[in-house]
This record gives sequence, C-alpha cells and structure tokens, in this order.
Amino acid sequence: MDITDILDPLNEAQREAVTVGAEPTLVLAGAGSGKTRVLVHRVAWLVRVEGVAPQHILAVTFTNKAAAEMRQRIEALLGYPTRNLWIGTFHGLAHRLLRIHAREAGLPETFQIMDSEDQLRMIRRMIRSLDLDEHEWAPRDVQWFVNAQKDEGLRPKDLKDEGNAGRRRMIDLYARYQRLCDEAGLVDFGELLLRTLELLTERADLLEHYRARFKHLLVDEFQDTNAIQYRWLRLVAGKSGIPFIVGDDDQSIYRWRGARVENLQHFQRDFPGTRIVRLEQNYRSTATILNAANAVIANNASRLGKNLWTDGGAGEPIRVYAAFNERDEAEFVVNRIQDAIAAGERRRDIAVLYRSNAQSRVFEEALLAAGIPYRVYGGMRFFERAEIKDALAYLRLIANRDDDPSFERVVNMPPRGIGARTIDIVRDEARRSGTSLWRAAAAVITQEALPKRSSNALWEFLKLVDRLDQDTRNLPLHEQVAHVIERSGLIAHYGKEPHGGGEARVENLEELVNAARDVIADEESDMPPLLSFLAYAVLESGAAQAGPYEDSVQLMTMHSAKGLEFEWLFMCGMEDGLFPHQRSLNDPEGLEEERRLCYVGITRAKRRLYLTYAEQRRLHGLESYATPSRFIREIPPELLEEVRPTMAVARPIYRPAFAGRDALPGGIRLGQRVRHGKFGEGVILNAEGSGAHARVQVNFERSGTKWLVLAYANLELM
Ligand code: ATP
Ligand code: MG
Repeated sequence: MDITDILDPLNEAQREAVTVGAEPTLVLAGAGSGKTRVLVHRVAWLVRVEGVAPQHILAVTFTNKAAAEMRQRIEALLGYPTRNLWIGTFHGLAHRLLRIHAREAGLPETFQIMDSEDQLRMIRRMIRSLDLDEHEWAPRDVQWFVNAQKDEGLRPKDLKDEGNAGRRRMIDLYARYQRLCDEAGLVDFGELLLRTLELLTERADLLEHYRARFKHLLVDEFQDTNAIQYRWLRLVAGKSGIPFIVGDDDQSIYRWRGARVENLQHFQRDFPGTRIVRLEQNYRSTATILNAANAVIANNASRLGKNLWTDGGAGEPIRVYAAFNERDEAEFVVNRIQDAIAAGERRRDIAVLYRSNAQSRVFEEALLAAGIPYRVYGGMRFFERAEIKDALAYLRLIANRDDDPSFERVVNMPPRGIGARTIDIVRDEARRSGTSLWRAAAAVITQEALPKRSSNALWEFLKLVDRLDQDTRNLPLHEQVAHVIERSGLIAHYGKEPHGGGEARVENLEELVNAARDVIADEESDMPPLLSFLAYAVLESGAAQAGPYEDSVQLMTMHSAKGLEFEWLFMCGMEDGLFPHQRSLNDPEGLEEERRLCYVGITRAKRRLYLTYAEQRRLHGLESYATPSRFIREIPPELLEEVRPTMAVARPIYRPAFAGRDALPGGIRLGQRVRHGKFGEGVILNAEGSGAHARVQVNFERSGTKWLVLAYANLELM
C-alpha cells in the first residue's frame, strides 16, 4: 500500500500524531503548526491504513466553512466521496441526530430551528404578553440567561432561585419560553445540543448504537468547546470511543459564548492515559509575523505555554498605518489591495479583518467603488436579509402552521390590511386557548370576533398559505420556492421599492431559488428536501454571497478568521475601545481574551501584514478620538514600519504611558468611576497632559470611549 501521500507532507511530530494507536490523543500546538492538517491526515490514515470504515468516524469543527474545507481535503486524500463520514459543527451534527430521532426526542417531525433573531422576537412577545416591564426584563437579558443555562446543560427544574426574586422570575421566564418553543415545534441553537444530550442520556439503546458507530471522534479547535459540547463528546465517546483532539489554548476566543478552555485540562483527566503531542514548527508565517504574534500573547498571564518557531525567513516588516478617519483607512487598504492584485496576488489570498461586523460597510463601499470583487463573511448574511426571511417564513408555515414567529412575520407581508389590533386579538385568543397563532386566527374568524374587513383579510392569508402548500406539494424544491416567492406576492411587493433597492431584493429572492437548487438531500435521515433546506438556511453562515467561486477579497471579523490563512492581511480598526473591545477594557479576563483574538488575527498572515487605525472615527453616530491599540504597542518596534508619518494632529504610536498615576487634579485616578452630565457613568482609562490641559479618556457605559478636557468636563467622582 502506498501511503507516501499521507505521511510525506508531515514532519516527525505530526507523523507521530497521525499514526498513534487506539488511544485518546491531544494535539496541543500553536497557530499554523499543522493541527488541522494532522487531523485531516489522521482520518485518511484511519481509513486507508487501519481499515476503519468511514461511518465509524465523526469529525467536528467550528464553522460550516471549515467543515466544508475539511471534507474536501479528506476526500482528496481518500480519492472518493465520504457521504457516510459525519463531518460538521456540533450544532450541525446535533441537528442531524434530532432529525433522525425527532419522535424519540419529543419533537414534531417538522420541527424548525430558530436563529437568535427569531428567538429574541419570541422572547419579546412573551414578555409583552405577561405585561412585564421591558426595561426591567430586557428581552436580550432573558435571551442571554436562557442560552447560558442551555449551554451549561441546565433546564429550569435544575435551577435554584437562591431566595432571589429576580432570579426566580428569570427561571420562570425560561420555563415559559421553553413551553412556547415546545408547543410551536421550535428549537433554538442551544436546544439542539441539549436535546440530543438528553435523548442519548435517556435512551440507552440509541446511545449504544451511536457509541458502536462513532469509534473515532476527532475535534478541531477544541479550545472553544463549551460545557455542553464537551459533555456531548464524552457521552458519545463512552469508554470505547477514541477521541483525537486538536487545539490551542492561546486561540480560545469564545469565552463570552461559554467556551471553556479548561476543557483542555479536563480532557487529560477524563480520558486517562491521554497521549499528548506537541507541534512546535509554524509553517504559515514569516519569522517577523510569528515573532509579533508571540510578543503580543506573551502579555497574557494564563497560558499553558508552548514554543513556536519557524525556519522561514524574517520576511517584510509589519506595516502600521495611522489614518485620519475610517474613510482614509478604507481608502488606504483598498489602494494597497490594488497594488497586491497588480503584483499578481490572487484576491482570495487577501483578507481584511475587523473586530465588529459594522466596520465592514466602509470597506465594502471602497471596494465597490474600486470595482474589486469581495465577499463578506458574517454580518448581514444572505439568509438574514428581510426579503429572504419573509420568503423563508412562508416556507416554514407551509412546513408547520404552528410556527408563530413565521406567522407574525408574514401575516401582513405583503400588506393586506391586517392591522396591529387584529393581530392583538389573535394573540389574545392564542394565549387564552393555549394554541398557536394560526389556530387562534381560524378561531377568531369562526367566532366572528373581528370586523368584517379584517376577518376577510385574515381569512385570505390562511387560504393563501394552504393554497401554496397544496399547489407545491409535489414540486421539486426549487420550483416550490419559485412558486412561493411569486404567488405570495413578495416579488411584486419588493419589486416596487424605489431607488433600485427593489431590484436587489428581487435578485436576492431569485437567488433563493438557486440556493434551493443546490440543496443535497440527506439520504440517511430521509429528511424532506424542504426541511433540510430550511435547516440549511438557519445553520449556514455567510454563504450564497456574490459568486462563491468568483475570486474575491475576503472580509470578515477576527472571530470568523479562525483556522484560515491569507498571503496579505489587513487588521483594521486597531484602536483601544474598538480592539481591544471597550467591553473588555475594565475586565482583565476579557482583555486576555481580546489579546488571544489579536494573536489569532496576526497568525492568519502568511507574508504581509498591515495594522491600521483611525485617529478619528464615527462610532454609534458619534465622533470619537482614538488611541492606537495597546496591542500595537506590545509588538517590538523593530518589527514594525510606519507607512506614513502621522500628521500634525496625530499622536505618535508610542505614547509613553501616563506617568503620574495620582497626579491628576481633584484626586482623579486611572480606574476611577465617574459620572458625566451627558454621557453617564464610566471608568477613567487613560490620562495625558497636566494642569489646565489635563485630558482623560473615559470609557462610558452607554456612549463609548471619549477623551475629555478635565477642566471642562465637570466629572463627578463616584
Ligand atoms: P491554526 O491554529 O491557525 O488553526 P493549524 O495548526 O491548524 O493552524 P494548519 O492550518 O494545519 O495549522 O497548517 C498551517 C499551514 O502550514 C497550512 O498552509 C499547511 O498546509 C502548512 N503545513 C502544515 N504542516 C506542514 C508541513 N509539515 N510541511 C509544509 N507545510 C505544512
Ligand atoms: Mg487549524
């Protein structure tokens, strides 16, 4: 058997990992050291050398994009498609299990997944129906609470109120919310995992079946698994499963979503005899880039500690650009991208990274103006656009009339004269009789509880959905979608929108038909095509944007760049308050997480790296003055090169830290809490100057970071 293609492209440590025997293995290694490569080659090794059947392998990764890439690479090594090898995200895999075992899990066969926006809307509706004060019981807080519990694997019955009335109410809201979901056959993201976990815990026969099936469990990006994902993994692995885990504690960036980097240590405890393999050679970046990344992460206290070196050359220095404002920053980036393309760089090897989604717009506009094709991952994704969600809501109602969020979304979309009053009456009826909005609507029509006109309009809507269902039942999926967007009136409605906006929306709706054409039926679970399409629409992140195969510049947040690599990389908005994010500025653990995110960002770059920041930026509608990110200052100056000296108004990058901590007038210190008449409460982060010129930087909870002249600010100490 010729296995040179599996082992030749590996170094010695990587080879050790790929060929370990049937023992739990943990590959712990820094960025770009070949962890993902090892995982892919391990799968090929198992199948081709150890003779493991593909259906005995389960591979888990972090995003759908990474999963697709992994499948491609595995198939290339195996030389054939791998339909019965399960590869996916934890959520995707849990969903697949629930589809196969919906009934056993106590779900209707037609259950639908809710994204977080649907979830929030449902919670808001519930809070209103209980006549609770939305300020006191903010829907977002309730959502956060519910999701945090589910991520820990906790149901309302598992929670204690600890004699605290507020907590008691939260637990009660969680329970009510869950009841609403169950009645409507809706499943949120956290529920996908929790339900499967419960299903496998309660059904010994199923657990035994899957334990026998998934003998090898491989997980990439393990540092970002949360509590329930890890429990899931342990449960499925049991005593006989052989886990193969790869991860990097320095790249744990989802603590805010419940990720537990401690799982790396727990793993060694929970799977005694774990073999640990360390990879220390980085193959991705130049020595300059790698050294910069190592210098930044060295500022974190809590680390497992690893070596990382490269035998590549020093390469070019890292360029730093201080822009006047965000437009100048975007223009600079786009000009450099043009240089790169002119020099023969492929567009897909160039990426622009930013901390938060909203930053993409300015870059998008500049790229558009320059005629450079680009693709945004995350952010306003195709499936999140209003017209697409409307079309999906019709399709969801066709699949399940009791889907209340969908009912509410399109009952008057396109407008058909159903007013807020009518909907209130339907909602009251639903609450009173404990049914779905759909059933309640039918009831209020029969009871003649509505004025004639409203009643007719509502009746038309119910008939429309029933008709759409009947007329499309035997059509192929994409024809069904085409029929629905047309006959629901959505195309005609959106087509009327002025300023060419309508045209784009109609194009999007038509693109939905294309997306439906591309759905591959899941043979194993026997899932009807419409259901698998709707699930795909919710789970898919960032697909279907202009020509996935077109060579385009990549725009994404630092979070979504995890695991990827690019020849040219721009890290933009490198400003304190933006990155590190202002939420984390007063929280040491949060700051460490931001620093890990910075480490992830820098290590995406192979050859050339730019760090840019804007001196002045419009944030949340307000102009604010920014300080360069502390992360830039953490990079040794000899690795950096300033692209253009900053202008007179600019401050130098290496501003000495404020020396006299206690030297500010009025007893003000760094870290001091203050109140400002207009901006509210905040914390002093930084200070410069003295006497009448003393200025302080305050991180306001509501209005973000600002520099204020102390003499005029009238700050009240707290
Ligand atoms: P990250 O932590 O960012 O996820 P990783 O550890 O998963 O990184 P990979 O993406 O697997 O690293 O590999 C990084 C780069 O190095 C890839 O381009 C990969 O093809 C290349 N590479 C890995 N191992 C080798 C090797 N032994 N020889 C040559 N190139 C390698
Ligand atoms: Mg990787």
